[in-house]
Amino acid sequence: MNEVLDLLIYGKQILTLKGGIRKGSSLAHLGIIEDGIVGIKNGKINLVEERSGKKFDAKYEIDASNELVMPGFIDSHTHLLFYGSREEEFELRIKGYSYNEIQNKGGGIWNTVKKTINAKDDELEKILIERIRFAIENGTTTIEIKSGYGIEPEQEIRLLKLLNRIKYKVDITIIPTFLAHLPPKNRSEYVEKITNEILPYIRINNLAKFVDVFCEESAFNKMETLYILKKARDEGFSLKIHAGEFNDIGCCDILDMLDLTSIDHLVYSNEQCEEKIINKSVCVTLLPATSFSLMQRPANARKYIEKDIIISLASDFSPASWILSLQEVISIACRYLKLLPSECISATTINAAYALKMDKDYGSIEKGKFADVLVMNVPNYNWIGYTMGFNHVKFTIKEGKIVYAKE
Ligand SMILES: [Zn+2]
Repeated sequence: MNEVLDLLIYGKQILTLKGGIRKGSSLAHLGIIEDGIVGIKNGKINLVEERSGKKFDAKYEIDASNELVMPGFIDSHTHLLFYGSREEEFELRIKGYSYNEIQNKGGGIWNTVKKTINAKDDELEKILIERIRFAIENGTTTIEIKSGYGIEPEQEIRLLKLLNRIKYKVDITIIPTFLAHLPPKNRSEYVEKITNEILPYIRINNLAKFVDVFCEESAFNKMETLYILKKARDEGFSLKIHAGEFNDIGCCDILDMLDLTSIDHLVYSNEQCEEKIINKSVCVTLLPATSFSLMQRPANARKYIEKDIIISLASDFSPASWILSLQEVISIACRYLKLLPSECISATTINAAYALKMDKDYGSIEKGKFADVLVMNVPNYNWIGYTMGFNHVKFTIKEGKIVYAKE
């Protein structure tokens, strides 16, 4: 007799995403099982196969025989932890002011830093939990969250501690990242502070998995970025950079010296940079919702796919781009980056897991992996990109537990 499963899902179409990360033409391959079943036991996928009249015992069943079943979305790049908003700057952007012009007037990131520093812990915690709840309802089952709106060491550490406390209060996986976001006026002193004080403290207290640096004309330069990341590597962190969002200042050269898990944005790039990315199997995380919100040109995603670069998609939710649903990010990516809905699904599941070094355990519906599964009320997967502004999630399942069910 078969063992009793905890949860059994019948699906019209199951997108398994089996077989590991995707690139090039395989990005569009979703590993589809028509009229299939997913069995979950002890928080993990126990079986995934065609239904074909088989009978299983389960404590609980979801009949999604008219619906789509797929892996939970993984948002591998967010700035979820901040206080306040910047809608007045949105008006300025519409009127034609640039990101840097607004930042130089004390707006942009500095504006949010001020508000975040002045907010109390419980105010920040409340807002963060509300945002995470929204993400869960929209199908996100793992979310990376960066620090970065504290700037000063004690504030950055406060934010990371808060993130680590929240981890145990929400129903999804949070991956905390320390982000060196902007240098204050005393920049060389500040870089020393990051490397000598912040990074060792974060390591000892296990407050972050990744260290990320905003490598950009208006933020840290290439040498500062390299200096911070070398120390981060020596401390044992995995590394990421924000690069090529507004300019190409050669941040990719860091790949000559260091291994990076991902390079994020890369709207501006060059051929040598892409060679290095390919040789080191670095994930390029595209953030089209930000380009869209800032009304800027998008990255050349089709070129990256043609070159067999591993790409992922994330929300980059921040006060500059208030878009958190990955369904919406997919809709934007289809129109703005000319990606197919199928390519976007790979880029927000298995490839996004790779961008967080989690693809062995998450990102696909395969036996032995954690059961992070969505039931989507759509006739087929194309609908996720075809529509915009609709939440199609019927159930969000995290490690076998239903954490959201549509009323
Ligand atoms: Zn970002």
